[in-house]
Amino acid sequence: MKKLLLLLPLFFVFIAGCASSAKSAGEDVTILPRSSWKALDPKPFKPQVPQRITIHHEGEFFSPDSNSAEKIKKTQVWGMGKDRNWADIPYHFMIDAHGVIFEGRNVFTAGETNTTYDPTGHLLVTLLGNFEEQKVTKEQLNSLVNLLAYCCNKYQISPETIKGHKDYAETLCPGKDLYKYLQDGSLIKMVKEVLKDKYGK
Ligand SMILES: [Zn+2]
Repeated sequence: MKKLLLLLPLFFVFIAGCASSAKSAGEDVTILPRSSWKALDPKPFKPQVPQRITIHHEGEFFSPDSNSAEKIKKTQVWGMGKDRNWADIPYHFMIDAHGVIFEGRNVFTAGETNTTYDPTGHLLVTLLGNFEEQKVTKEQLNSLVNLLAYCCNKYQISPETIKGHKDYAETLCPGKDLYKYLQDGSLIKMVKEVLKDKYGK
């Protein structure tokens, strides 16, 4: 038993090491399950069919050295607490500075927002950080492109529906350094390339 306990951390280092290797566009998508950030079970939720994809930043400056799983768990605990009383973490997927993708709420659950748009039908993807203040890393951007293509293919969503939170509501989200890829059309273009190369779409 003692030996097993000693080996356990090594196992997790191995898993994290695999997941955090920088992916280039078109590579396979690894999504760490909710157990990787010790998620609480969700409360009953409002069902949805995802029809469009909306990009967010988490909104708080986030150093790449910080513990992503811990941050995600804190966001969930806050969102489900008395301030908001949400069913779960507000987003469907989260991506950290190393490009690690984490599973959020069930994609068939409508997300949540602090702003005035209705997120029903939106698949919400957030990048950890505040991109008014910091830059999107190459790994983060690559994982975003791969995840978006994966979701477009899996849920039959047109890449043309990919927009930023600020396209729907009064907010700076997803921050200027992330929004620029939406504004100049390069994000949708990269997603379409992966859809074509990897999924033959
Ligand atoms: Zn947002």
